[in-house]
Amino acid sequence: MTVIRAKQALTARGWENDVLISINPDGRISSIKDAGTGSDPDTIQVGALVPAPANSHSHAFQRAMAGLTEKRGDSPTDSFWTWRQLMYRFLDALTPDQVEAIAALVQMEMLEAGYATNVEFHYLHHQPDGQPYDNPAEMAERICAAAATSGIGLTLLPVQYQFGGCDQRPLGPGQRRFGNDPDRYADLLEGSQTAISQLPPDRVLGVAPHSLRALSQQSLKAVAALRPDGPVHLHLAEQIPEVEEVQAHWGARPVEWALDNLVLDQRWCLIHITQMTAQETKTLARTGSVAGLCPLTEASLGDGIFDGVHWMQSGGRISVGSDSNIRISLAEELRQLDTSQRLRDHSRAALATAEQSTGRRLLEAVSVGGAQAAGRGSGWIETGQWADLLALDLDHLDLAGLRGDTILDSFVFAGDSRCVQHVWSAGRHMVRNGRHIRRDQIARAYRKAVAPLRDGL
Ligand code: ZN
Repeated sequence: MTVIRAKQALTARGWENDVLISINPDGRISSIKDAGTGSDPDTIQVGALVPAPANSHSHAFQRAMAGLTEKRGDSPTDSFWTWRQLMYRFLDALTPDQVEAIAALVQMEMLEAGYATNVEFHYLHHQPDGQPYDNPAEMAERICAAAATSGIGLTLLPVQYQFGGCDQRPLGPGQRRFGNDPDRYADLLEGSQTAISQLPPDRVLGVAPHSLRALSQQSLKAVAALRPDGPVHLHLAEQIPEVEEVQAHWGARPVEWALDNLVLDQRWCLIHITQMTAQETKTLARTGSVAGLCPLTEASLGDGIFDGVHWMQSGGRISVGSDSNIRISLAEELRQLDTSQRLRDHSRAALATAEQSTGRRLLEAVSVGGAQAAGRGSGWIETGQWADLLALDLDHLDLAGLRGDTILDSFVFAGDSRCVQHVWSAGRHMVRNGRHIRRDQIARAYRKAVAPLRDGL
């Protein structure tokens, strides 16, 4: 039994002072009570305890490319040139050992940033020539092995990716390692189930049809039906050319098509949705599906700005993910989400309400929405939920002397991951005093893995 004593805690009832939170050996919160006067030497003393959200969208292997794609090619219109060239080079080289080491680093950095869960949108499946490994779920197994090392909660979403575009052209050279027809995908899902069953019971297996460009309409619906109780994630309406391509082939804008043809409900997490009309925003928000937002990556790729103001006014649910993993920071992700609205609308505190400041509203929204997107029983500090907990350091210069919502506002807008004191994922105490307990081992393996990838860059 773990017992935490928090000076302040944001529970399902709101802020409480001097609280004792007990965690069962199974990783769930067993009680929340007033600390009283007694003090037990085994109790872990923390500053401000808040829910640790899920990181709802990640492609782990892309972490190794972070910071390496900031040049342009010769063509004035193609700003993706260096990104694509480097991606292809990496895809010709990445081995299962390297993928495991990169994923462990990503998960460690997520925990150190305050996330409890990695929702991995996993599409790098096969050997460089496109042939499956002897075990079709070899790479999925490596993501699970990384999670066993990092201690993060894993929601694994094996991706089905079949075509190179809406015209159903075959996959290009840079996409061979992703491709599966429905039979191969069924094998992959079965192998993934075996791999993930080795992890503690908070693990979740869901499915991910990649996007409207990568699947037929029939396959997309079939994939969504394969795990009726698990989460379904889909990239949707990220860039203008994608919207135009879907409109040309499917006769409707992507969100319009999804609203008319899919049973969108709480199982669904729609990734990006930066390209929506006002009507699409309102209607989609009301389905109860989660928006899987990746503000730092969307800014890095120039995707566009999600309409958070109208989405949240319509009761829409949100989560955040680090997607390309160019930067893994919960505080910065939430800051970018709000400041992008301010820049577009010439406003301040865009997503605050009369009752809740920006930091409080965003952290609560992504905790609840992230848990829904991850298919995970967490999101609030409440008895019976997984103990996904983030302790913020009230001795940090940006947080010292603060109370309640202002702690979260300062963490998001003035602070960064250095405010993170402790993190638990389903009761696993992986970050202590700001540092992951296996940081040295994970960092060493990562350095060794990326050295050959960086040779001759
Ligand atoms: Zn993505």
